[in-house]
Amino acid sequence: MAVIANGEVRMANLCLACCHTINGVSKLHSNILTESIFRDYYNIDNSKFTNVTNGIAYRRWLMQANPELSSYLDELIGTKYRKDSKALEDLMQFKGNKEVIDRLFEIKKNNKIRLAEYISSANGINVDPDSIFDIQIKRLHEYKRQLLNVLQILYMYNKIKENPNLDIPPRTFIFAAKASAGYFMAKQIIRLIVAVSNTINNDPIAREKIKVVFIEDYRVSLAEKIIPAADISEQISIAGKEASGTGNMKLMINGAVTLGTLDGANVEIFENVGEDNIFLFGMKAHEVDELWRRGYSPLDYTRNNPELQKVLDMLTSNVLGARFDDVAKSLLTNAYGTADAYMALADFDSYVKAQQRVSETYTDKYKFGDMSLTNIAKAGVFSSDRAIMEYAKNIWHCK
Ligand SMILES: *Cc1c(COP(=O)(O)O)cnc(C)c1O
Repeated sequence: MAVIANGEVRMANLCLACCHTINGVSKLHSNILTESIFRDYYNIDNSKFTNVTNGIAYRRWLMQANPELSSYLDELIGTKYRKDSKALEDLMQFKGNKEVIDRLFEIKKNNKIRLAEYISSANGINVDPDSIFDIQIKRLHEYKRQLLNVLQILYMYNKIKENPNLDIPPRTFIFAAKASAGYFMAKQIIRLIVAVSNTINNDPIAREKIKVVFIEDYRVSLAEKIIPAADISEQISIAGKEASGTGNMKLMINGAVTLGTLDGANVEIFENVGEDNIFLFGMKAHEVDELWRRGYSPLDYTRNNPELQKVLDMLTSNVLGARFDDVAKSLLTNAYGTADAYMALADFDSYVKAQQRVSETYTDKYKFGDMSLTNIAKAGVFSSDRAIMEYAKNIWHCK
């Protein structure tokens, strides 16, 4: 709790000591603050602690970024939702309505065509707008586990190589991310994504079923192009590390279905849409803590899983056109007890199974369509109008 100790100023402790209110930015995050990192402070004085779950400027992320969907919503439920995001829930009356689902798919397809044109001009890669657009866009960080996504893609690639007739709906994996300037491992992971993209997109068999694209220069104006085209929203951080996430909310309100862990605001997305309208996988935050305390050994997971071992071997051979020894080492070498610090290998099997559920579900157009519609309808609570109102009322007591 000390503000100054060992010759340094502890910024977070300084904040607690002098602030008016302390809030996490999602329910899970607020609970982690009081139960874990600021527990001692909380036990002495709990009066400052509260929660305000983040929100997004949905008039940018829905109305401005996705005008075709917004116009259709106007037709279906009127324009009330444009000022009152909770009115999106009126959309629920159209669940199971095939005509509405067909039209939502058509709008999604148009957005996918627009993104495909951008990818064609920016990357020189042709992607199929009828494939599932599976999207992970966010800062490149090990805790966000872009690497887990890549390992699963390599697993799928191996499955297709073993059986070229594998019956799965075609998938386009789209990444966009910046690495901060001094973050060596993040840059290695970008290098890996690009190598996997080149390998798969140049394989005449695999590229009929999966493609991988890394779009450069991730920023808000690019996010506005990508998000309306998403079918699947990858929110796969190790539980306990993502304070809230807001990309998850932007994708949800555009009808993407979340494939994620119970981390940050994903927990509240799950509470709002229900278990039938989200693809959950992986350890919960308390299970991550327990495994960490027991002692985590990534080799326990590779020993029992030859398919995972095969994927890891690809990183240190030359099959991807280059070697990725540093990435492999970060997952497997336990020199300082930090091997696979974000437990990608522990969640690998559960993630593979969740991806199989995605493929199966997408094959049933109206089932997936209902999931997508439900996500749009239930996204209203994640408006920044609500978040700002909570700050104004509960913290600043504005009149
Ligand atoms: C929304 C947004 C983010 C935050 O994304 P997360 O998935 O919540 O990490 C980061 N960068 C840009 C450009 C965004 O628009």
